[in-house]
Amino acid sequence: MSQTPLNFFWFRRDLRLHDNHGLFKALKSGLPVQCVFIFDTEILNKLEDKNDARLVFIHQQLEVLNSQLTKEGSSLLTLYGAPGEAWKKLISDYPVKSVYTNNDYEPYARKRDDEVSKILASKNITFYSFKDHVIFEKEEVTKDDGKPYTVFTPFKNRYLSILNQDHYKTFNSKKELAALNKTIPGTVISLTEMGFIPQKLDFPAKVIKADVLKNYKEKRDFPAENGTSRLSVHLRFGTVSIRELVAKAIDQKSTTWLNELIWRDFYQMILWNFPYVAEGAFKPLYNNIPWRNNEKEFTQWCEGLTGYPIVDAGMRELNATGFMHNRVRMITASFLVKHLLIDWKWGEAYFAKKLIDFDLASNNGGWQWAASSGCDAAPYFRIFNPSEQTRRFDPEFKYIRKWVPEFEDLSYPAPVVDHKFARERCLNVFAAALKKF
Ligand code: FAD
Repeated sequence: MSQTPLNFFWFRRDLRLHDNHGLFKALKSGLPVQCVFIFDTEILNKLEDKNDARLVFIHQQLEVLNSQLTKEGSSLLTLYGAPGEAWKKLISDYPVKSVYTNNDYEPYARKRDDEVSKILASKNITFYSFKDHVIFEKEEVTKDDGKPYTVFTPFKNRYLSILNQDHYKTFNSKKELAALNKTIPGTVISLTEMGFIPQKLDFPAKVIKADVLKNYKEKRDFPAENGTSRLSVHLRFGTVSIRELVAKAIDQKSTTWLNELIWRDFYQMILWNFPYVAEGAFKPLYNNIPWRNNEKEFTQWCEGLTGYPIVDAGMRELNATGFMHNRVRMITASFLVKHLLIDWKWGEAYFAKKLIDFDLASNNGGWQWAASSGCDAAPYFRIFNPSEQTRRFDPEFKYIRKWVPEFEDLSYPAPVVDHKFARERCLNVFAAALKKF
């Protein structure tokens, strides 16, 4: 084996060769660059479904990356194991000088990177990590006193006031591919080898259609329309670049869509600055709600059998496709927490299991918004009325009919709880719990 020192680039939530900040820096470092991906057993061992669609998505993207790298005379090295152990093996097998990667803001990822950087440092190997996943990270958008924002609108205003072209300038990593290492043959470990079931699945396209962007503001709230980008899975795994999307939103003057991309940054910033949200309420007072946690009702909610057609349609869409429209995510989440008084963490965990775009920061933010326990959340007395939401956002029952075709038949279940009764109960329970402390 060649003893020429190498730099490694470690892919995580940035599965692309183009406009990849950390990869660009690695390729400019002066040494040949070997790309690597680690199938992390700490994460994989927790997946219940052996046909998990997220893993299929990642695997597909790694195959694409490997074939792109092969065309350049290089390859993608993949390992299966705990990241610390995988790096110990890599640095004993290869003459690694530095490791490059992109920042990941989740509590687990921070711990993992801390551990890996220590392992590397013990062998004098430097660990470099870059901002790639968001436009502004960590403490880059703060209030005048330097503290993080906890309300979205002022965060967004500050974000927009400091945003300039440099923040979404692309990193031309693809132009630097000549610097890739060509001495290590790599392969992508098969799903079967890791105990998962390979499948042929179709995922949303990687581009936002021009008419979707143009009509986004008018159509985005109607689940029966194809009115949103469906880019969430690509944003989650970095198969598209946030910088390119922000540039596009600005170029096309789509402030409403840009707003949604800023929500994504906002929740990543919240998770970084307040990592305790991953375990409980952003407003700790809300940890005192005495949830009913009725398991039968939870199952009815999960299976789309609550007798509320808009709620059931959302849950069935989720179960069948791994996706749910944003408006319906809000309705189903609100229903679980407020109508059924079931702990939002149960719903958060169910979404985490099912969503192909599952992202801890956005999912947690969305659930805490619905439960009124988060930053900039809906006040607790705001309780979505499923019928009213249907009247406004699915007036012709197009979405409902697609997922709950029997909703007008006798076979369709009666409502699990009466709306008026549930509303009163929720108001009383929340008011009493919040007053008590
Ligand atoms: P578009 O409307 O086209 O928006 C473009 C992109 O902006 C999205 O792909 C997403 O990356 C981002 N975005 C849009 N809305 C939000 C939002 N409210 N918060 C944060 N980012 C947003 N989004 C996830 O990516 N992963 C999750 O696990 C997730 N869980 C959610 C749970 C709940 C209870 C709620 C209410 C929302 C959740 N969202 C989550 C946010 C939102 O529902 C999805 O991002 C959106 O539906 C994805 O569809 P799209 O790509 O067509 O979005």
